[in-house]
Amino acid sequence: MKPFSSMGRIQRVRREIRQREVEVARIEQLGSGFLKITFKGEALTDFTSDSFDDHIKFMFDNHAGESVRRDYTPRQFDCNKGELTIEFALHGDGEACNWARSAKIGQRAVIGGPRGSMIIPMDYDWHLLLGDASALPAIHRRLEELPTTAQAIVIVQLANRDDQRSFDSRAQVTTQWVETPAQLLSAVRQLPLPAGDGFVWFGGDAALAADVRRLVIEEKHVAKEATKISAYWKHGTKDFHEPREH
Ligand SMILES: Cc1cc2nc3c(=O)[nH]c(=O)nc-3n(C[C@H](O)[C@H](O)[C@H](O)COP(=O)(O)OP(=O)(O)OC[C@H]3O[C@@H](n4cnc5c(N)ncnc54)[C@H](O)[C@@H]3O)c2cc1C
Repeated sequence: MKPFSSMGRIQRVRREIRQREVEVARIEQLGSGFLKITFKGEALTDFTSDSFDDHIKFMFDNHAGESVRRDYTPRQFDCNKGELTIEFALHGDGEACNWARSAKIGQRAVIGGPRGSMIIPMDYDWHLLLGDASALPAIHRRLEELPTTAQAIVIVQLANRDDQRSFDSRAQVTTQWVETPAQLLSAVRQLPLPAGDGFVWFGGDAALAADVRRLVIEEKHVAKEATKISAYWKHGTKDFHEPREH
């Protein structure tokens, strides 16, 4: 692990990029909108991921024989068992989510990375975690990792109520589920931010990310360094990639 710079209190870490061959070990439906797929493979015995919002490249060949690569959160991993779990949001028509829909036990894929991590400290006075379905795996992982002393406020936008879940967390967590992006913005606008130093994290649709960034920084006066607001996908664009800051 090589620390290479810091931005505010976020520690950035870079790793050698590695590709690992994996195969599907288990498939579990979560609500109607998610498939939780656990992969196994010898190559996963030294897999590591330092931050809840890391991403791996999930790679497979489509029916035309073209290589498809998409970003996914390493939701859970167990090096002893050589296992890695990804939660695929079933958003409609995308090659990766369709791959997940038709996945069978034993089916092969390749994962690359994570090539780096941005480690957000756990000791902020409060953590505001915002996102849509694509960010729910990262938010859930963060809640599992936060210590008992942490205070987390979670607002998640999900179109389907049956995708709501309870979180396993030692932290003090308050959760609000909303159905539309407008409701998420309204919930954030109305939220009185707790006292002390906090951190605001968002993952989800690019248009919503832009609105959340404006709202949090300009209206709620949170310092930019105390935010990490990422576009995970963009309406009408396949394989969207947000320009990276580094
Ligand atoms: C750091 C990071 C972590 C991520 N982690 C996860 C994760 O753990 N689980 C997860 O499900 N996704 C995650 N995503 C989002 C995922 O990479 C995208 O949703 C990706 O586009 C899905 O690929 P696809 O082939 O299914 O759809 P694409 O072929 O990329 O897109 C096809 C169409 O579907 C639309 N679309 C794509 N994603 C969504 C969506 N989520 N909701 C609605 N419409 C969509 C596009 O606008 C496009 O019109 C993450 C993204 C990033 C950057």
